Amino acid sequence: MKVVKFGGSSLASATQLQKVLNIVKSDKERQFVVVSAPGKRNDSDTKVTDALIKYYRAYIAGDDVSLQQKWIINRYADIVAELGLKQTILDRISKNIVSLATLPIEENEFLYDTFLAAGEDNNAKLIAAFFNQNGVPARYVHPREAGLFVSSEPGNARILPYSYDKIEELNNSEEVLVIPGFFGVTRDGQICTFSRGGSDITGSIIAAGVKADIYENFTDVDGIFAAHPGIIHKPHSIPELTYREMRELAYAGFTVLHDEALLPAYRGKIPLVIKNTNNPEHPGTQIVHKHSKEHLPVVGIAGDAGFVSINMSKYLMNREIGFGRQVLQILEDLNIGWEHMPTGIDDLSIILRERELTPIKEEEILRQLIQKAEVDHAEIEHDLSIIMIVGEKMKSHIGVTATATKALSENNINIQMMSQGSSEVSIMFVVNKEQEKAAIRALYKAFFKPQTKE
Ligand code: ASP
Repeated sequence: MKVVKFGGSSLASATQLQKVLNIVKSDKERQFVVVSAPGKRNDSDTKVTDALIKYYRAYIAGDDVSLQQKWIINRYADIVAELGLKQTILDRISKNIVSLATLPIEENEFLYDTFLAAGEDNNAKLIAAFFNQNGVPARYVHPREAGLFVSSEPGNARILPYSYDKIEELNNSEEVLVIPGFFGVTRDGQICTFSRGGSDITGSIIAAGVKADIYENFTDVDGIFAAHPGIIHKPHSIPELTYREMRELAYAGFTVLHDEALLPAYRGKIPLVIKNTNNPEHPGTQIVHKHSKEHLPVVGIAGDAGFVSINMSKYLMNREIGFGRQVLQILEDLNIGWEHMPTGIDDLSIILRERELTPIKEEEILRQLIQKAEVDHAEIEHDLSIIMIVGEKMKSHIGVTATATKALSENNINIQMMSQGSSEVSIMFVVNKEQEKAAIRALYKAFFKPQTKE
């Protein structure tokens, strides 16, 4: 049995919904359907979730909200009309959207989440009605009924472990169950959302809860590309990735799937497949616990900008017990998270995300490094990018680093730092931001040898 999740672009219009219906109809195993809110129909369009944010802001500001309500209701009305659905479903949706502006504003920490969740909630009602009208017996299930209980952390809910037993009970349904993604209910019955893009998380939780054979996540691309298509012309889609490889690629900028969505499926040992609603015949990318097919040592190349490096040196640093702790304590006291720590004998760098710093924090770090850690030299280097080459097979394969550094040097790319964790799932290169794209192109060519776009 399969849990399928459709993202906003797969549900943006009647044409898209028709494809969704065909996908669900074509496989009886697809018994659970998790849906996002309607997404953008084109580049200049607005996602329903974003329209709900505007609506919320106008409401709490005490402004007239009729325009916002109208825009959102019309968005559903267009789909209802194009699909020829009954007026009753639209009435139900309209009533729900309008009623949001009657909820208490004061002492209501879940108000924002309740507004946002309405996008997926109403879409699930609409889609269940659409399925029913087209020969797929279906039922809309609210997360409260599904047993999707979450922590009381508005905008950042976490699933409560006891939810899984309740979700398992969904298994005995005769109908296809349509579940809105992105939110759960707290112990007190409040609506609480995951972070943005969180419908992927719902799908993963449901898949783990009902012990699905597979979790199919439908998007608008043919799976996960081996490199960013904005940098490499028509990169190939990766047939199979392990959870660990996916985690590494996601860390360095691959955003097809919500980061937190991997965890429930991973723990539940459910394979996940990323597929394309617009090209459902394409096998997409399977994310598995262990590789089952022959594959290259490197599976993907990711790059992400926005890094800085705090570089320091101190004569005889390697002999000084407690030096590392002292340095990290300085960061901890300033509430700064760090990412990597490449070291030399007498020098050490800490790589972190630019967003962790402010000019005042930077000054403070440098001051404390000199005064407390008594370093000889300290500086902060900005505008860095990380490039990760990822593949579990690298561990048993000699020459990957050699191929990578050769490709980079032949393309005049200066490697500022290099680091490889003991698990050898990835090798990270730090380069200047300006050289990020060129580095990815050089590496893609070296490992996969296609034609690259200049
Ligand atoms: N609709 C929500 C968002 O735009 C959640 C999702 O689509 O996954 O963030």
